Amino acid sequence: MNRGFSEIPVSVFEVMSRLARENEAVNLGQGFPDDPGPEDVRRAAADAVMTGWNQYPPMLGLPELRQAVATHYKHWQGLDLDPDSEIMVTSGATEAIAGALLALIEPGDEVVLFQPLYDAYLPLVKRAGGVPRFVRLEPPHWRFTEEMLAQAFTPKTRLVLFNNPLNPSCTVFPREDLELLAKFCVKFDAIAVCDEVWEHVVFDGRAHVPMIAMPGMRERCVKIGSAGKIFSLTGWKVGLVCAAPNILRVLGKAHQYITFTTPPNLQVAVAYGLGKTDDYFTGMRQELAGRRDYLAKGLREIGFPVLDSQGTYFINVDLKPLGLNEDDESFCKRIVVEHKIAAIPVSAFYASDPITSVVRFCFAKHTATLDAALERLSGALRRAA
Ligand code: GLN
Repeated sequence: MNRGFSEIPVSVFEVMSRLARENEAVNLGQGFPDDPGPEDVRRAAADAVMTGWNQYPPMLGLPELRQAVATHYKHWQGLDLDPDSEIMVTSGATEAIAGALLALIEPGDEVVLFQPLYDAYLPLVKRAGGVPRFVRLEPPHWRFTEEMLAQAFTPKTRLVLFNNPLNPSCTVFPREDLELLAKFCVKFDAIAVCDEVWEHVVFDGRAHVPMIAMPGMRERCVKIGSAGKIFSLTGWKVGLVCAAPNILRVLGKAHQYITFTTPPNLQVAVAYGLGKTDDYFTGMRQELAGRRDYLAKGLREIGFPVLDSQGTYFINVDLKPLGLNEDDESFCKRIVVEHKIAAIPVSAFYASDPITSVVRFCFAKHTATLDAALERLSGALRRAA
């Protein structure tokens, strides 16, 4: 068996969701909303199942969805993308990332990764033969500097795997940071694979700046989006991939032998949804920001030091000043059993030398769920203090 898979643990999201079920805990761990999602988008999928095409769609995605993606990104991010040669639909962003790694690197190529990193990245980079080079980000700002990039990039750098907005730090990199990273990609002739699944989940008036729009990046960037995140339907697994034609052509070759196609009815519904008016998207952001504020206030009242959340479904607390005498992982394992509340230890997002005091909570939940979580959490801190 391949040790890259036989010797790694089960994903922290699955572990915590299973512990949540076993302990009948309130699950603020794995990131998914407890809302059913927009009814019209779900209706469009249901109608497409009943009256539409249920056989293989075109390999790169339904033409109507690829057109809708181009129109959507033109409107929201000012991008000019050709739906025929620059857009592909995958079965989720994770497939898109796996496919990009398989298609774009040769064994021995170096891949620059930013820690904290989404847990799928490293096993996929390694399985594709990539050699990881880490840039380590730290709270509370979680930003990189020119010196940090200079240490990570080498003449062997072929690819950068970059997540913005960044899960689990819940931060949005400012434009100047994107420009700095672009400068290194150009200088070292590297492709940036950009996981931008949280592009619509940004708060306080922020607008997502896509890496592909940075100087020199149009020809060396793979932009990856997720309909699941855009429409709060995380189980749908519809990924949206954009890249220049010579890159997309090769990504299509990986996609054809991984999943080949993505359920056509979901594609029909996503094409419909991407055309929804601005108020749907801004309303979603406002709604989520309200829940963020609600949970943040409650956490502060209990005594948790709360870190800034600029985007994603999450907010972090830093246990360090509390002097609890336990790390993030033991804290999470203890509270799920003793206080019936599941969260995610951020150390799970580091391959080495982890930050061990930060715990991530998902706020994309009904007020009643957040209230129940806060009540249980107040006990957790009293006991430990
Ligand atoms: N993206 C989700 C999160 O960060 C998890 C997705 C998954 O469980 N694979 O919580």
